[in-house]
Amino acid sequence: MKTIYDYSYEKMEESMLGEGWKKFRSQQLFQWLYRKRVGSFDEMSDLSNEMRERLKEKYVIDPLRLVKRMVSSDGTVKYLFRLQDGSLAETVLMHYDYGKSVCVTSQIGCNMGCAFCASGLLKKTRDVTSGEMVAQIMYVQRELDKEQERVSHVVIMGTGEPFDNYENVMDFMNTINHDKGLAIGARHITVSTCGIADKIRRFAHENVQYNLAISLHAPNDELRTRLMPINKAYPLGELMDAIREYAGLNNRRITFEYILLKGVNDQPEHATQLAHLIKGLNAYVNLIPYNAVDEHGFKGVSFPQAMAFYDRLCKLNVKCTLRQEHGADIDAACGQLRAKVERGELDDLLG
Ligand code: SAH
Repeated sequence: MKTIYDYSYEKMEESMLGEGWKKFRSQQLFQWLYRKRVGSFDEMSDLSNEMRERLKEKYVIDPLRLVKRMVSSDGTVKYLFRLQDGSLAETVLMHYDYGKSVCVTSQIGCNMGCAFCASGLLKKTRDVTSGEMVAQIMYVQRELDKEQERVSHVVIMGTGEPFDNYENVMDFMNTINHDKGLAIGARHITVSTCGIADKIRRFAHENVQYNLAISLHAPNDELRTRLMPINKAYPLGELMDAIREYAGLNNRRITFEYILLKGVNDQPEHATQLAHLIKGLNAYVNLIPYNAVDEHGFKGVSFPQAMAFYDRLCKLNVKCTLRQEHGADIDAACGQLRAKVERGELDDLLG
């Protein structure tokens, strides 16, 4: 059954009218779902019995069943959920000094095939619906409610390529951002793409304030194609054109993600090429420690090596940050936990 979280505010209004209900019902439903955060239609006491029954026949609220919850030594929480069709999806909660950030899964598996990533070990079986993404946030929010905390930041950096599931991802961001709903600030929501240039162009024209992050990971075509097959379809020239179009239309700083892979993309010339590639853009580079994936054979760099690359970029006037690793001890990197479960390594978890 469809989850009611699938409806953005505007779509909810349309569907209310379609049912012969008044438009303002949408506001009431949003209140119950996102402010009071109820788990059942029966709790929605100001709706008529008839309306509640109809809603119950058509929708579920929470489509997720928790399979496993793991807490890392740094407090990072990883949730493994089973969706209604049996698919598994991972969600991660990270604690920062600026707030609570949730990383959501946007597809079941991924077809992008990046050479270093665990998510691509399992091919995409389907897109995650907007409501299933909303539900991931709501699950964590209901837990945080017990501590009077709130999800303040959202990153779409779990399994999947969000721009390969564009409409659902836009609906998802609009729903959690809506001021009648969770009202998570647009500037606190980040969508990360491996570089589907035509979707970056489309996003550029949406006139929204969400953050855009680009998984770059290599500063030249030869290396990037080796690491990320998407680079064949959209080589760096085309990708950077799309990014410049976005930058021209949006006064937002762009993030470039760059995993440091030992002996692969961590050499001085890579720093130089990177600086040249993004020159003139309002952007910064987020250097990411690599979470080793057993199957792939890449190695991360040591902290001093990462610092050396960081220093080099700084000297080349590139703004950059060195990301802290979160939850490495609980396989918090995209797709790692799910891949193990699907391979049957953690059968005991599933009971
Ligand atoms: N498909 C999207 C979003 C999901 S991946 C994208 O490519 O941006 C989120 C980020 O995690 C990407 O930058 C991705 O390259 C990175 N990543 C993937 N595997 C990783 C690993 N094993 N260690 C560290 N980062 C990883």
